[in-house]
Amino acid sequence: MANSKYEYVRLFEDHRALLPNTWTVIRVDGRGFHKFSARHGFAKPNDARALQLMNAAAVEVVKELPDVVLAYGVSDEFSFVLRRGSGIFERRESKIVTLITSVFTGWYIYLWPSFFPTALSPPLPSFDGRAVSYPSVRNLRDYISWRQVDAHINNLYNTTFWALIQQGGMSAAEAEKELVGTLAKDKHEILWKRFGINYNDENEMCKKGSVVVREYEKPPPPLEEVQGEGEDRMTKGQKERRKKALRKGKVVVRFCDVIKDAFWQERPWILGAAVEEEQEEQEEEKEKE
Ligand code: ATP
Ligand code: ATP
Ligand code: MG
Ligand code: MG
Repeated sequence: MANSKYEYVRLFEDHRALLPNTWTVIRVDGRGFHKFSARHGFAKPNDARALQLMNAAAVEVVKELPDVVLAYGVSDEFSFVLRRGSGIFERRESKIVTLITSVFTGWYIYLWPSFFPTALSPPLPSFDGRAVSYPSVRNLRDYISWRQVDAHINNLYNTTFWALIQQGGMSAAEAEKELVGTLAKDKHEILWKRFGINYNDENEMCKKGSVVVREYEKPPPPLEEVQGEGEDRMTKGQKERRKKALRKGKVVVRFCDVIKDAFWQERPWILGAAVEEEQEEQEEEKEKE
């Protein structure tokens, strides 16, 4: 590119980089989906087609971006986790957030006809995006746990709220009033005693949310062991080989508990060597005390 006298305006660009050596979560959330879902006749409380469409779009994001090691979705939101050592776009925050958000939105719109019989019409669905970087595996897992607990609380509330309306003949205001101050066990009781609904039998996707991960026939070595300390030190050939090994994974959607250890222990390639490093650090700290 030839230099022009105008080129100096580049100096005003502000490139905020994601903190190094952290787990970054990019969360996208549908804009005004309360209205959007009503306009497109989403079933209440949970439209399975809408959730499956969100999952399908997230699967494509994970396929396109090998540095996304896990995604978790519920309602109109999806969180994408970038592996700790990712050097994608020199970690420039605005590039990463806008790219993930627009790749997701593109697929959501492209795949819409595979899930809904009626065509989309303006206002078209759009998503906002934000990035948050977590310094430890513990913080990252607490973030994912926070979203899953939130999914559970909201789903139990919504299931009871809509049962009171759809089967109990209440208005929205009456149902809301009925639920003020109720605990989880009260909601289970309302569902069971009044409507014969056992909450535990409800759809797993709605109760647990959706996890998108790669699964392997032959698990790859944990990421950070392959890459050493930083992506910069890898040769081009090493980068390519690692990308290939990662891509052999099949991107799948699971509806399961992501709070307990089992999910992570069964899939050591998600967090890589960071888990052991943190355990060692904690043990060293304890010894010092
Ligand atoms: P904002 O633009 O601030 O995000 P919003 O209207 O999208 O506003 P959210 O808090 O994101 O508000 O909530 C999303 C809403 O979308 C839910 O409250 C629900 O009404 C609707 N929704 C999302 N997914 C589904 C689904 N699968 N089935 C039924 N309704 C859904
Ligand atoms: P990055 O992902 O870093 O933005 P890029 O390949 O998109 O990489 P840009 O600097 O954004 O690079 O340049 C856009 C390129 O797209 C142009 O160099 C040109 O080759 C191509 N391009 C964009 N618009 C058109 C167009 N209307 N007709 C033909 N080529 C185009
Ligand atoms: Mg929203
Ligand atoms: Mg939301």
